[in-house]
Amino acid sequence: MSTRAEDAFRADIVEVGRRMYARGYVASNDGNISIRLDDSTILTTPKSVSKGFMTADMMVVVDLDGKKIRGTRDASSELLMHLEVYKNRPDVRAVVHAHPPTATGFAVAGIPLDRAVLAEVVTTLGSIPIAEYGTPSTPELPAAVRKYIKAYDGLLLANHGALTIGPDVFAAYYKMETIEHFAKISLVARQLGREHLLSREEVVRLQDLRGNYGIKSPAPICADASTSSASSRAESRDDPSTSSEANCQIVQAPSSHGARLIPSDPADLDGEIRLSYRELTALIEDAVKALLGGQHG
Ligand SMILES: [Zn+2]
Repeated sequence: MSTRAEDAFRADIVEVGRRMYARGYVASNDGNISIRLDDSTILTTPKSVSKGFMTADMMVVVDLDGKKIRGTRDASSELLMHLEVYKNRPDVRAVVHAHPPTATGFAVAGIPLDRAVLAEVVTTLGSIPIAEYGTPSTPELPAAVRKYIKAYDGLLLANHGALTIGPDVFAAYYKMETIEHFAKISLVARQLGREHLLSREEVVRLQDLRGNYGIKSPAPICADASTSSASSRAESRDDPSTSSEANCQIVQAPSSHGARLIPSDPADLDGEIRLSYRELTALIEDAVKALLGGQHG
């Protein structure tokens, strides 16, 4: 890594920090950003500094164990979470962590952003699960991140914030913008009382388009979303260190021959489902179509 290249990365981190702060994704000294310099060194933000007012000289260079190599300041206490990503994802060159308020609200409410409603989110991120709560700056948080990081490029962190990764620091940061934007739209749709989901067939089609845009990750949609979704909900109450790692994505997208409409309250998914007369009519129409299709086909 030449000095000039490292200087450019330092300037990139300053710029991403400024945008994160300007957009209100962090308050006070929250958040942290890192870039992989080479196989064994990471450039990262210092602790106890507002990400909106950093200068290039404040950055810290550490090894993959978090040991400081260069810098007058100390790295953020959340560095362990970043290192966990680099150890598990050789393709990743940058990690961004912030507390964007709407996405963090979903993380606090325990509601993952896993419903297929926006084409661009399905294409770029797939879905965004919630990594189980871990006390910040302890190994609990890296353990929770480890469980999801092979299958996802963006995570909500329960009762904490969000984490995004990418091939460069701007790509990682834009995923943070996408997650917060998606969270705001999801919140409005839920306030309006309904979300019409994209069909599973459409989700597969969108994921197939990734190659056209040079998007290599994240992982494909899990074969049986309904079963995986249920088991993931059950697992979320367990100790994350004993749970298996995700290798495919849970995306809630109904088959186009099945129910297109789901209740606005996720709690209803496990129990009674109330439908309006119009929704019920649509469901019956679908069922009749499927039945007739079956007879003729
Ligand atoms: Zn944080």
